[in-house]
Amino acid sequence: MSLLKPTVAVRYVTDISLELLRELGTDAILLDVDNTLAPPTSKIPYEGVQEWIDTVKASGIHIVICSNNYKKRIKPFADSVGLDCVAMSLKPFPFGFNRAKRKLKEKPSSVLVVGDQIYTDVLGANLAGMKSVLLLPRSEEHGWSIRLRRRMERNKRKKIKLRNGDDGNVGKAD
Ligand SMILES: [Mg+2]
Repeated sequence: MSLLKPTVAVRYVTDISLELLRELGTDAILLDVDNTLAPPTSKIPYEGVQEWIDTVKASGIHIVICSNNYKKRIKPFADSVGLDCVAMSLKPFPFGFNRAKRKLKEKPSSVLVVGDQIYTDVLGANLAGMKSVLLLPRSEEHGWSIRLRRRMERNKRKKIKLRNGDDGNVGKAD
């Protein structure tokens, strides 16, 4: 299996249904923030995200935010949506995922990584032996490193089918 292949791809985080989580055997989620829960730098989650978090938590699935962004960005956001977090997680390296797993109250048997980037979220999940859900990039992005990773992703995304059957090779979801 390719290290760059997600288990499943969907458009938005809110497309991840409880049925899909059951199908994947998920009992904990390590969740990205930028372009997954909210636009980069924004304090306001995308529409439906808070309800999705509340629904998933109520189903008994643990969620820990795991982001490569700085603590001053991630901690206030995590507090505002009611989640624990690990900032500066250095995805795709395993350090942040390991720190996030230690924050889970019970030892998870199946951890799912959810994020919008192949070279951080998906690669990190595969290196750690975890399942992953890849989302489409959703907001405007700036900075050379993310633009480089998006360029590297382009051909990989062409081969990834979204769960609803759409082509994964869409620049932006909106
Ligand atoms: Mg992201």
